[in-house]
Amino acid sequence: MRFPISDASPIRFPGPPPAACDVVVLGGGVIGVMTAWFLAEKGLKVTLCEKGRIAGEQSSRNWGWIRQQGRDMGELPIMMESLRIWKSLAQEMGEGLGFRQEGVLYLAKTEAEVERFEAWLDEARPHGVDTHMMGSGAVTERLKGSAKPWVAGLHTPSDARAEPWQAVPLLVEGAIARGAVVVENCAIRRLDVQAGRVAGVFTEAGRIACDQVVVAGGAWSALFLRAHGVHIPQLAVLASVAATEPMAEIFPGNACDDDFAFRRRQDGGYSIAPGSGHDFFVGPDAFRDFFTYLPVLKKDFRSTGFRPMAPAGFPDAWGTRRRWGGDEVSPFEGIRVLNPAPNMDRIARVQAAFAEAFPGMGRPRLRAAWGGMIDTMPDVVPVVDRVAALPGLTIATGMSGHGFGIGPGMGRVVADLVAGGDPGHDLTRFRLSRFTDGSRLIPGPSL
Ligand SMILES: Cc1cc2nc3c(=O)[nH]c(=O)nc-3n(C[C@H](O)[C@H](O)[C@H](O)COP(=O)(O)OP(=O)(O)OC[C@H]3O[C@@H](n4cnc5c(N)ncnc54)[C@H](O)[C@@H]3O)c2cc1C
Repeated sequence: MRFPISDASPIRFPGPPPAACDVVVLGGGVIGVMTAWFLAEKGLKVTLCEKGRIAGEQSSRNWGWIRQQGRDMGELPIMMESLRIWKSLAQEMGEGLGFRQEGVLYLAKTEAEVERFEAWLDEARPHGVDTHMMGSGAVTERLKGSAKPWVAGLHTPSDARAEPWQAVPLLVEGAIARGAVVVENCAIRRLDVQAGRVAGVFTEAGRIACDQVVVAGGAWSALFLRAHGVHIPQLAVLASVAATEPMAEIFPGNACDDDFAFRRRQDGGYSIAPGSGHDFFVGPDAFRDFFTYLPVLKKDFRSTGFRPMAPAGFPDAWGTRRRWGGDEVSPFEGIRVLNPAPNMDRIARVQAAFAEAFPGMGRPRLRAAWGGMIDTMPDVVPVVDRVAALPGLTIATGMSGHGFGIGPGMGRVVADLVAGGDPGHDLTRFRLSRFTDGSRLIPGPSL
């Protein structure tokens, strides 16, 4: 199986973009698509520009987990709303989303992990989550054929999953049905700033006049914003995933420990991945933001593989241009779909860990393996804010490896933020100024 979305995929929405609209959304991942959906529902004229293909990057490459469990307390209320939205989306869009509410289970190997799970649950309980701890016996009973001596589990029965590479390309049809204009293969090169505020965007297919722009560019957002003097300390890490051949059901939901994670897909196979390991390409932004990342780096150092440079053209590659004009070809046109090679050593270790935990299943045979660049922030929570210094610009990025599940809820929030309505949640944790106002950055739980 080839990964289903690539720069060889047909262009479904060729444009051309309109000359003017109310709001332009940069990026056709789950955040951009759902923001466009809710903006259009409000009756605003919205144009979404995607440099490659809808959901070509993180939004198709992820594990497909829709989880409240382990969330930062700032995100949890939005995630709970998001789950409600997912349910209504499943009713409207049908089976194609692959939405199933069959739970998330985190597996603890040590007492220290149990304490972390319990600490999270103590904080989350007042929000009304249905999460509970499971003892070792209950875990073994739940996971058919398991041979690993897990000491406990953290389980949220109402957590869910969907099929990423089907879901987001389907959701964009809902946004279009509500009136959004979507243009693929159309990079936004620069903002058109006039008299100190947003007056439009320069795309590779011409200018679009607009008063408001939402930057939901995933791993490319920092590069785009910095070209306009807006700095966010966002970096990208490589996460590797594989799809197995169909196998017997051992657990209908999603489960992981820090060695491996698995989630049953609609086709009967599993999406498997390292539970915590990832790779990081060092580039100029990493040097610039090194000290901002120290707290999270101390936590994650052992699970990160460092490489001296990103492949050419990646957002933080050494040779990637940082300055360009609205009439010049931009770095966003250089790579239409960011498609990093997966780390096959990590995937082989996951296959071994899976086989050891479920000896009756044998070593999983792979249909495909792929990589995705996760856009992360030093406190592992996103930036969702209007840019005070540049009226008309809103940022919704840095979902830090958990933006798929929260996407619909976040899209609703961002649409209200742009339209000047009440976002309905406290967004202080996601403010842009936290990197400059002297606040101490507190990393989210990243459980
Ligand atoms: C391997 C992996 C596993 C994950 N597992 C989960 C999970 O189980 N659950 C979960 O909730 N989250 C998970 N995530 C995270 C989740 O996938 C992301 O947080 C989410 O998809 C981010 O969506 P986005 O719209 O912000 O970014 P993206 O999906 O990356 O979309 C951004 C889009 O912007 C486009 N773009 C960039 N610059 C421009 C420009 N200048 N002009 C036009 N277009 C532009 C890009 O081409 C891209 O398509 C995982 C991520 C990875 C990589």
